[in-house]
Amino acid sequence: MQYQALLIKYAEIGVKGKNRYLFEDRLVSRAAAVLKKVPGRFRVYKSNGRIYAMAAEPFELNEAVDALQHVFGISGICPLVQQAVVGPEELVKAAVAYFTGAHPNFSGSFKVMATRANKSYPWDSNEINRKVGEALLQAAPASHVDVHGPDILFRIEVRERLNFYSETIPGLGGMPLGGTECGMLLLSGGIDSPVAGWMIAKRGVKLEAVYFHAPPYTSERAKQKVVDLAKLVAAYAGPIRLHVINFTDIQLAIYDTCPHDELTIIMRRYMMRIAEHLAKENGAQCLITGESIGQVASQTVQSMVSTNEVCTLPVFRPLIAFDKQEIIDLSRKIGTFETSILPFEDCCTIFVAKHPVTKPNAGIIRRSEEKLLPGINELVAKALETEEIIDCE
Ligand code: ATP
Ligand code: MG
Repeated sequence: MQYQALLIKYAEIGVKGKNRYLFEDRLVSRAAAVLKKVPGRFRVYKSNGRIYAMAAEPFELNEAVDALQHVFGISGICPLVQQAVVGPEELVKAAVAYFTGAHPNFSGSFKVMATRANKSYPWDSNEINRKVGEALLQAAPASHVDVHGPDILFRIEVRERLNFYSETIPGLGGMPLGGTECGMLLLSGGIDSPVAGWMIAKRGVKLEAVYFHAPPYTSERAKQKVVDLAKLVAAYAGPIRLHVINFTDIQLAIYDTCPHDELTIIMRRYMMRIAEHLAKENGAQCLITGESIGQVASQTVQSMVSTNEVCTLPVFRPLIAFDKQEIIDLSRKIGTFETSILPFEDCCTIFVAKHPVTKPNAGIIRRSEEKLLPGINELVAKALETEEIIDCE
């Protein structure tokens, strides 16, 4: 079946007001951006409250759908056959040709649902429904009509052109990107943080990312893995600027000076401080991490209280109540899992204590951190000065 266009459906909840056109324009430009990479020379445009992607040449349906399944804000994708408006008898023939082509040997139930924008068309929608229904029963004798719960809802639209479609392929949902909201994602090489970033991006928030690298304790390959993950997330979230911060000296200073059961929490607090600095410098309004309550000893509610204490920006932890299996399922769905499980260590796994504190006491942690002063401030300044920026898309 060769389709001419795709009808892009979006969830309307929350976009009804006067800002709706912004939502639609963002969706149009994201859809156009992803379809540029697919043969078909698509033109994406709005028309009468609809968004269409019209192909100028034949295209592979699967490729185009896959591209649109990377765009947040799309609830469904309908492959569309379009032609010039013709008279009623011709319309019935064309409808049958469409249906038998799109659903060969169909034996389930269907319902025809015609709409007319053009009220001067000789038949009204009921008549179109009836006549096309009768013709389909003859053309596909094993099928039957079910007006309440059909397997296939066959839409016929008489507009400036004639539209036929009968399939809605699910999209990702969410909100399209393109506004000014931006989050700074703490991106490690693990399973969780790419998923966390993806979830916030799904709400229309642009991402930047920061990775804390600890050479020689963490290898170049560990860094490359984070770059690869950023690219995989960028396929949905748009280009991601990755800030690579050399964290080794900071980590060693903490290791040398602080009680080892406090290493994880103090390291995490320095990561947050640096991430917040980068966020503010780069116009991000929130921090994002992949933490989930109780997943590891350092991810207790009290630890998160302690890390929140060192920053003023909100810290979003979209996975907070997810089970590990739920996170894995999502990472498989978005395609980051295989990369995440590659075996290169990230910096935290090397400097972890056997028994990290799980209920950090604010006073004790602050006193341990005071021992790092003033040297640590210079190390932080140096880490920021020597950051490496990698644009991932
Ligand atoms: P992930 O699977 O995302 O690595 P994790 O289960 O390994 O998470 P932790 O190591 O406790 O959990 O890290 C918690 C969060 O802190 C991560 O999800 C990430 O947001 C951030 N984080 C940890 N290590 C780094 C790092 N080296 N660079 C940037 N962010 C990090
Ligand atoms: Mg990790």
